[in-house]
Amino acid sequence: MESMAVPSSEEQKKKNIFILGASGETGKELLLEILKQQKFSRVTLIGRRKLNFEGSLYNNVVQEVVDFEKLDESAAAFQGHDIGFCCLGTSRAKAGADGFVRVDRDYVEHAAKLAKAGGCHHFILESSKGADSSSTFLYLKTKGEVENRIKALGFDRFSIFRPAVLLCDRQESRPGEWVTRKALGVVAHFFPTYMSIPTTTVARAMVNLAVMPAKDGEKVEVLENAAIHALGQSK
Ligand code: NDP
Repeated sequence: MESMAVPSSEEQKKKNIFILGASGETGKELLLEILKQQKFSRVTLIGRRKLNFEGSLYNNVVQEVVDFEKLDESAAAFQGHDIGFCCLGTSRAKAGADGFVRVDRDYVEHAAKLAKAGGCHHFILESSKGADSSSTFLYLKTKGEVENRIKALGFDRFSIFRPAVLLCDRQESRPGEWVTRKALGVVAHFFPTYMSIPTTTVARAMVNLAVMPAKDGEKVEVLENAAIHALGQSK
């Protein structure tokens, strides 16, 4: 396969991007990294509520508030983006089993479909370590299914990130998670790429990947936890 030409920094700067899930733990780090690196032209957040930001860094961020249950009504919000980043997701504990599938699979697939129709050529999905559509675990099965469904949409480039447990100072308190994260923090000290990854590293890796051409022109690329660690180190 022919390898793609490396875009010049000026060409790269003209690209418009959108983020789904920018209020979440990964999404907010991703937004910050994108704004700090200034590698893109227009930055649009597509979410269910308007976010308030402090500081001039966020001055030019565009926000589109949509109803994910009636996403076709907001098709215009998905038009004109070159690259889409998706850090959307909920949990079974918060939304129930059906609600979890609805958000993590159906909302994400629908948004990707509208983005593709709107001209987006590169979709970057934060999935999960172990994603597998044939898994008996709902979480891993759902993540595998959404990966497959987006693959079927035929983006010019589809990048799947499969991070392990995310390390961050999570704002919302989830019982038991704090202890788990502290324990994982200790493991991460000795085996940094084994079971976890900081959200800041995932965010930087996503941005670094977005400005690099696809390896050998590959249409679908899967980044496992160790690869995300490696890519997220460099700036
Ligand atoms: P968060 O839970 O911190 O944020 C999730 C985002 O999704 C928020 O922007 C939230 O918006 C949005 N969202 C949630 N429910 C809905 C809904 N019903 N309608 C519209 N928007 C919604 O995400 P994380 O950064 O923890 O995770 C990002 C992704 O990575 C997820 O897909 C997750 O499954 C995956 N992942 C997580 C791991 C972990 O250790 N937590 C490990 C590996 C992968 P709002 O602020 O409005 O609620």
